[in-house]
Amino acid sequence: MPSLKPLVAGNWKMNGLKASAAELGKIMSGYGTDLKGKVELAICPPATLLSTFAVVALGSKLAIGAQDCHAKASGAHTGDLSAEMIADTGATHVIVGHSERRTDHAETDAQVRAKAEAAWRAGLVAILCIGETESERRGGTTLDVIDHQLAGSVPEGSTAANLVIAYEPVWAIGTGLTPSNDDIAEVHAHIRKRLAARFGAEGEGVRILYGGSVKPSNAAEILKIGDVNGALVGGASLKADDFLAIAAAY
Ligand code: PEP
Repeated sequence: MPSLKPLVAGNWKMNGLKASAAELGKIMSGYGTDLKGKVELAICPPATLLSTFAVVALGSKLAIGAQDCHAKASGAHTGDLSAEMIADTGATHVIVGHSERRTDHAETDAQVRAKAEAAWRAGLVAILCIGETESERRGGTTLDVIDHQLAGSVPEGSTAANLVIAYEPVWAIGTGLTPSNDDIAEVHAHIRKRLAARFGAEGEGVRILYGGSVKPSNAAEILKIGDVNGALVGGASLKADDFLAIAAAY
């Protein structure tokens, strides 16, 4: 497998006000030449901060992403943002299919797939989230769930450049719990096998991030697991020092 440049992406969820630009500034100043050579960084703030952050981060190599997009380019969809609107802010990435959206907004695999296609239409990289619930893990169906989500939500035309997969066990998000290293390795290897079978060399190049309670104290051991090509970080991405410490674990 080619060695892939890792991506560490921060998902700020529904956190952050204008004053949070100070935290962004700290991340940018801590993202020095050494780190830039080793790892790509992205921050996905709430939609209200997208334009400001994209302008502030311009030219810094820190990528800015949104947390969701609508599948349509425009229209009567009150409260939604299209991928085109996101791209218009200067953002380059968008998270689709996060488990909080799948749960809170009953998003289906088909909708997630349409959102990923919308991201590409607008020139954005889709960070597409998949992962099993606690009862699915306990019931021993994790790999079946992953297969189902990959088949249903990952579009044809996926490439190393337009898609990032985030494996996020739902029970590990915001709970302080993480799967064992062996369990992470098993799921990531499985995802890699499926992507390679479907997309060939492009599938070999798609980065597979681990997400779920990644913090400075566990980053090094998680990030060295085979087929873990970075992390999607929630809570720990809100503090510049923690986020940079996770990235520096490479
Ligand atoms: C997430 O929201 O994608 C996430 C992984 O959250 P946390 O790191 O807080 O578990």
